[in-house]
Amino acid sequence: QAESHLSLMHYRRLGQTELRISVMGFGASPLGGVFGSSDAGEGAKAVHFAIDAGVNFFDVSPYYGHTLAEDRLGQALKGRRDRVILSTKCGRYGVDQFDYSSQRVRTSVEESLKRLRTDHLDLLLIHDVEFSDTEQIIDETLPAIRRIQEEGKTRYIGISGYPLRVLKDIAKKARVDAVLSYCRYNLLIDDMDTVLVPTAEELGIGVINASPLHMGLLTEQGAPDWHPAPTEVRAAVKAALAFCRERDIDLSELALRFCFDYPRVTSTLVGMSTTEEVRRNLSALGAAADPELLREVKAILAPAANVVWSSGRPEN
Ligand code: NAD
Repeated sequence: QAESHLSLMHYRRLGQTELRISVMGFGASPLGGVFGSSDAGEGAKAVHFAIDAGVNFFDVSPYYGHTLAEDRLGQALKGRRDRVILSTKCGRYGVDQFDYSSQRVRTSVEESLKRLRTDHLDLLLIHDVEFSDTEQIIDETLPAIRRIQEEGKTRYIGISGYPLRVLKDIAKKARVDAVLSYCRYNLLIDDMDTVLVPTAEELGIGVINASPLHMGLLTEQGAPDWHPAPTEVRAAVKAALAFCRERDIDLSELALRFCFDYPRVTSTLVGMSTTEEVRRNLSALGAAADPELLREVKAILAPAANVVWSSGRPEN
């Protein structure tokens, strides 16, 4: 049944790497209970279903559920490791727990490899670089993960974070293979397209677009308690959800179609922990977003368009 989705999947090369990753990637943070409790067995089934349907890109971090997401993903990937392109992160370990030092990065990767039951990563990202100063990332953290790369423990390296200017600044000054940006290209916001993507294209860096549902906000279930979006954004989304509900339309599906249609990123990473979510999101690959519907929904969301929040150190 999962195989019936195979014809819908396509793959793009991540920047100048040898990785060809699926346009829909599996964000594993929900496996760690980041969006509310999740069942380990069901999560594993979702991972297996996604792999059989052609999803080959999986992203996780030790931060997600305080290592739980990595542990569950590692368990689910037993016997399937060679079918996936695996990305994890280092540097962030809790809401207020950060350590971008070369020593911590080294132990962090060893611990991640154990939890993920593998001897190498395909991509290692420095998690939320805006919580350090750019100098430390460039002079200490990146050299440390390059050494890890030279030892064969990761094939490629990159950075992730929220403020586009910081990501762009680091990408211009240091060599990275990929940049992951989140909540910067979806129905609510598109500044990644003008601020980050042109630079990344110029430099040959692969871009990964995370959080197409704006971290759960563009869903009937709604955003988790910790969500940073301000009131005006929540109000506009509520109106868009009501508009769609009246017409028997799934706003989440429209949101995913909108992101899957965007050709300038390698992959859109959506967070999932159930087979049903994987199935629904795969079906969004089947058709482009209806332009008239998109126009109407975007008009409702217009009062909340391109609203950002602060993240990281004040100077960032
Ligand atoms: P998202 O926008 O993908 O939303 C995830 C939420 O939407 C979850 O609650 C999930 O259960 C729900 N959902 C998924 N499909 C649905 C559907 N069809 N209908 C209704 N609800 C649905 O947000 P995300 O999980 O934060 O982002 C995706 C992934 O990107 C993460 O799991 C993570 O791997 C990565 N990410 C990285 C960073 C970073 O590096 N700083 C930040 C954010 C996300």
